[in-house]
Amino acid sequence: MARAMHTFKRVCVFCGSNAGSRPEYSAAAREVGKELARRGVEMVYGGGSVGLMGVAADAALAAGGKVIGIIPRGLRTRELAHEGVTSIIEVESMHARKSRMVELADAFVALPGGIGTLDELFETWTWLQLGIHRKPIGLLNVAGYFDRLLAFLDHARDERFLRSVHLDSLLVEDNVERLLDRAARFEAPDGGKWIEEGAPLEP
Ligand code: AMP
Repeated sequence: MARAMHTFKRVCVFCGSNAGSRPEYSAAAREVGKELARRGVEMVYGGGSVGLMGVAADAALAAGGKVIGIIPRGLRTRELAHEGVTSIIEVESMHARKSRMVELADAFVALPGGIGTLDELFETWTWLQLGIHRKPIGLLNVAGYFDRLLAFLDHARDERFLRSVHLDSLLVEDNVERLLDRAARFEAPDGGKWIEEGAPLEP
């Protein structure tokens, strides 16, 4: 039976507040912004004007899309808030920002980035693993940026700290359209987080 297709009202983008060293990173951020706007999907993100964040937001706006920035109060100046977005939501803390992102968005896409991006990706993924939400999470592996992280996650699965079903719940693609199409068909895994001692290795 074909899987139901989900339509997204809002997708949250996690990405670097730096642009990284390769032009491919900015090109991918631009593609994400443009593609969300083309699909009539609002972009939710951390609200910054710098790095890949600024590139993605500008591209979505230029293509006629809506962009919602979520920024912790007090960090608005330090984080170089993008004052041109459709709306800025100020929240109390970094924690409140992530909660708000998860509440508002129907799906998440992580692009190359640093600790902030990884933090957002992993917390959102942890919540999926625990069943706190059942929304798709996509990783856009631009120019192989995440190859070594993905190899490490295979290692975590092989060492039985991570179930295959949860590893596989992260959608990995190097193309934005394919990633969003897969996200639209995503069904959250059922079943627990824990691996029984002595249970055979999962496929
Ligand atoms: P990083 O990958 O360390 O550059 O952090 C980027 C992620 O953390 C983004 O997805 C944002 O949600 C948040 N973040 C980090 N720096 C900023 C910034 N200058 N303005 C807004 N959000 C930021």
